[in-house]
Amino acid sequence: MGSLSVWMLLLAPVTTLAIPLTPEDYRTQDVSGQFWHISDLHLDYSYHLTDDRTKVCLSSKGAKASSPGIFGDFMCDSPYGLILSSIQYIKTSGQKVDFMIWTGDSPPHVPVNQLSTKMVIDVIGNMTSTIRSLLPDMLVFPALGNHDYWPQVFFYYLVESQLTLPLSILR
Ligand SMILES: [Zn+2]
Repeated sequence: MGSLSVWMLLLAPVTTLAIPLTPEDYRTQDVSGQFWHISDLHLDYSYHLTDDRTKVCLSSKGAKASSPGIFGDFMCDSPYGLILSSIQYIKTSGQKVDFMIWTGDSPPHVPVNQLSTKMVIDVIGNMTSTIRSLLPDMLVFPALGNHDYWPQVFFYYLVESQLTLPLSILR
């Protein structure tokens, strides 16, 4: 009878020796670096050119776009073409950087009924795919912004809910 061998492969993150930096360390060690910082992409997936300037984008909330073009309008959040162009610039700039900081806020400022948890996740996924595909070797440190949740800016939502709750009980 043969013996049964069980092999277990343990995958663990590669760790490097991490020593907390003290103010003295900052004075004696080279801790400088070059990096890109991108933030508040606020992709407005509804942006499009049309004769009715109140319908160019949902993020204008019915206000007239002032001078809509292929890269957007002052009254609207970013169309995909603007974001793509920006990331392509980073790719082709030739700028040598050590890493990128991405401080979130990808979803647009559109009316509440135009967003959902799925939409927020889809927009963040779209932005992640765009950055990954154009900058595959970039070390990116992402963070979530206050619009990367649903409901957005939930602090105000909670405050409003608490304020309206007693009224709804009375009805
Ligand atoms: Zn923002």
